[in-house]
Amino acid sequence: MCSESRFTARWRVAPGADTLDADFGIDRKQMSLDVAGMTPAPDEEPTQAMSRPCHVARSPADAVVALRAFLDSHRRIFVLTGAGCSTDAGIPDYRDRDGRWKRPQPVTWQSFIEFAATRRRYWARSLVGWPAVGRARPTLTHRALAALERAGKLSGLVTQNVDRLHQHAGHVDVVDLHGRLDRVICLSCRHDMARSDWQQQLLAANPNWSVHSAAFAPDGDADLADADYEAFTVPACPRCGGIVKPDVVFFGENVPRDRVARSQRWLDEADAMLVVGSSLMVYSGFRFAQAAARRDMPLAALNLGHTRADDLLTLKLDAPCADTLSFLAAADPDTRGAADAG
Ligand SMILES: [Zn+2]
Repeated sequence: MCSESRFTARWRVAPGADTLDADFGIDRKQMSLDVAGMTPAPDEEPTQAMSRPCHVARSPADAVVALRAFLDSHRRIFVLTGAGCSTDAGIPDYRDRDGRWKRPQPVTWQSFIEFAATRRRYWARSLVGWPAVGRARPTLTHRALAALERAGKLSGLVTQNVDRLHQHAGHVDVVDLHGRLDRVICLSCRHDMARSDWQQQLLAANPNWSVHSAAFAPDGDADLADADYEAFTVPACPRCGGIVKPDVVFFGENVPRDRVARSQRWLDEADAMLVVGSSLMVYSGFRFAQAAARRDMPLAALNLGHTRADDLLTLKLDAPCADTLSFLAAADPDTRGAADAG
């Protein structure tokens, strides 16, 4: 068994839920049924407690040796990534080493749809937080994974991140499981816009707001002290007057079926799975680790600290992502070009 401290709420996950679950302290099954009215797919029976033989590497040097062996011994690898890939790019993550929230939980779908006050607060903070996300550049981790794709080792890469940094690093086959922060979409007419254009509309409607400076928070959010959100004006959709939302999956919202299906096809084509920079606390990502374990597929995780899948892993690399993956970028002649192009 890989885990040193058992995660007691691990098996309370709703079978079949595509819903992006907010946390492990709530009744996910009830929440997902309330929100989505979905029934479990046949292959999504809850995984029973299991444990597999697992090698653990804790030092970066040991992790590199173990990862090389893992990559060499498998033909096609399914990769799932999370916030740990982007922290070096200056984009904070939500959780600490034990998978606990570092900060108040992000906005939920229900609240965003129901309450104008939630939308005012969201866009007021996003107006301040977005520019730093828009400027973020790919890290060594993103470039190393793109190099691995060019080497023909991947069936595909699924990311829980919304920052598009894998694509900016030259990665081609990517599913943005939770959407993308660089686009916004109207919930009524589906008109979509670049986030940078929407930024101009936000600024035009709130000309004095950009004076706010703030601590940078995950997902283009920002911590604004003493801001009067009531004074913030949220523009309507320029086509139909509808509600505009970032093109990301909020907590409590469904992950689109086509993204899940494409991801599952890549998992089907793989003979091993590698998790990079994720504690897998959100079910929409954890489900792939469960699926790999059910198939007795080798499952490695490169992540600092606890993951929700610790008992399912066959290789645990408790080491920094960039340090551990850097040998892949160093071996790839195209990496620099891809980084410059991104
Ligand atoms: Zn519209």
